[in-house]
Amino acid sequence: MTSDALDNSVTLCRSCDLVIRKRALPTGVRALCPRCHTQLYDTPYCSLNGMLALCITAIIFFFPANTYPVLELEFLGSMRTTTVLEGALAVYQQGYWIVAIAVMTAAVIAPGILLMSILIQIVIIKHGLQHRLLRSILKQALKLQGLLTQLTMLEIYVISFLVAAFNLADFATVSFGFGTFCFTMLFIMNLFLLREYDLEHMWSFLEK
Ligand SMILES: [Zn+2]
Repeated sequence: MTSDALDNSVTLCRSCDLVIRKRALPTGVRALCPRCHTQLYDTPYCSLNGMLALCITAIIFFFPANTYPVLELEFLGSMRTTTVLEGALAVYQQGYWIVAIAVMTAAVIAPGILLMSILIQIVIIKHGLQHRLLRSILKQALKLQGLLTQLTMLEIYVISFLVAAFNLADFATVSFGFGTFCFTMLFIMNLFLLREYDLEHMWSFLEK
């Protein structure tokens, strides 16, 4: 941990290779190389409130994204719809239970826990940093963050809807439902949220 903290606190200038010790910056300020004035790093762009708004929006989309049909197929007059959960269940019933678990983890469980975890982290940083118990919860959540981010793979499902639509378009009428819209919105919110989320910055609140 100590050597990690040391490595993180030092950076190299991209153009003149000067070794620079990183320091915490106030919002909207950018660090420049003292020798050649190249831009080195800046503070995370998004404020906690911005992340909170993205996080709550993503959670609102999370529930319809998983319960409404993501794909509607009309083939010879009969209509078939499927949700993410039904898809996982269908794969399970065909005997591919490992695939079903992977689908459930990457599309439903990990994104759900990830969003709740970020929400809890932000609320604790904003209101509960004085409490010892809440601080330890925040610490655990930050430790889990990397794993949850790796397990969350919403983009694979957005791509798979599109692939299915192109492949099936010749045989059946494919239409995207309300669930597809919610899933895509969930994906976009998640993308922006994780773009703004900075683990190192989140850890720095605990050091205060
Ligand atoms: Zn430089």
